[in-house]
Amino acid sequence: MKNYNVLHILELYHIYKGMDCQERRDFYQKKCDYYQFFVRLILILSGIASLSYLVSDYQLNGNTIMPTLIPRTSILIPLVLYILLEPKAKSYKTKAFLNYLFLNLIVFATIWSVYHLEIKTHFSEGATILNFIFLICCLSARPCFGLMGYGVFFAEILLSHQVNHYENLDVIISLNVPCCVGIMFVHCILNLGEFERYLTARKLQLALITDPLTTVYNRHRMNQLIRDNQIISDESQISLIMLDIDYFKAVNDTHGHYAGDQVLHFLGATLMQEIPKSGTVIRFGGEEFVIILPGYPAKQAYEQAEAIRQKVATSKESPWGFHISAGVVQYNGDFEKSLQAADHALYHAKESGRNRVFWDCEFQA
Ligand code: GH3
Ligand code: MG
Ligand code: MG
Repeated sequence: MKNYNVLHILELYHIYKGMDCQERRDFYQKKCDYYQFFVRLILILSGIASLSYLVSDYQLNGNTIMPTLIPRTSILIPLVLYILLEPKAKSYKTKAFLNYLFLNLIVFATIWSVYHLEIKTHFSEGATILNFIFLICCLSARPCFGLMGYGVFFAEILLSHQVNHYENLDVIISLNVPCCVGIMFVHCILNLGEFERYLTARKLQLALITDPLTTVYNRHRMNQLIRDNQIISDESQISLIMLDIDYFKAVNDTHGHYAGDQVLHFLGATLMQEIPKSGTVIRFGGEEFVIILPGYPAKQAYEQAEAIRQKVATSKESPWGFHISAGVVQYNGDFEKSLQAADHALYHAKESGRNRVFWDCEFQA
């Protein structure tokens, strides 16, 4: 279990501040996806439970429920709309908007009911109880949404005072302001805790798709790309390079397995350095790599592969002298077939003497 202290919280805050908008959106979306089920459930139950206040209304109004019957049951309309609309919302922002809208409609129905109560002083307790729902709502929202929700809450209290004329407005405010401050504080701390969970999950996810020796992606990443249609959905031309170290077994046999590992590590780093940012390097097998190059027609990919080949063959930084062969093919919409064609081109590069790049132009026809 992690030892939390102020320094650790500050460090998390520092990392959070360093993230760009896209990363923050991703974090809040994941947080919302994780908690929204519970938030939705509690909000629906709270809407239904608010009807039970008809009992206290009955006691306060001298044994009749009629005056507050419509205001109390009015929550059923937003409740049904919330049940219907909320699952359709995808983004965390829309979900938070619907959560806080529904919560503030519960507040509104309560205020409307208080208008029909003979004794209005108990609104102070009623309003304080509503803070529990604010606490739940914060689980799936950004802290700033929580603050906005509270802003509407206090505006509703102050505006309703114009018609309800609370005798104890000072008490209502003085009870709710500390609740608001406390809940907003909890909101921020929970957010940072959740943020740490997000960072850990992200690290694990990255470890799962990264090859530890070469630090390029592994086949899990390639399967992910195929499964999520991330290759096919890109409309621009895409090329694949399949490359393999020549006589790698000899490196292992002559200099030892550790030397072989050093060569693989060096090749991984070189590939990362040489390919454009949009490209993806995957360690496909032992000493075989696949490079996916979006926006590259085969000819351009061939030139890229040739540049890599030359760089590797002539590098002075390489731990041991070695060279590679490569097969290049333009992606034709079927990843499996494109890979086979790239493998075929690689085979020809090997057959025709190694340390060369072969381009399978027949595959495109
Ligand atoms: P070719 O030019 O035909 O590709 O010959 P080759 O010797 O490179 O090919 P071969 O498939 O016979 O040998 C591949 C070798 O790669 C065999 C295996 O021991 C080695 N190898 C696979 N993974 C690793 C690794 O992670 N580290 C090390 N050091 N060697 C590895
Ligand atoms: Mg080889
Ligand atoms: Mg091989």
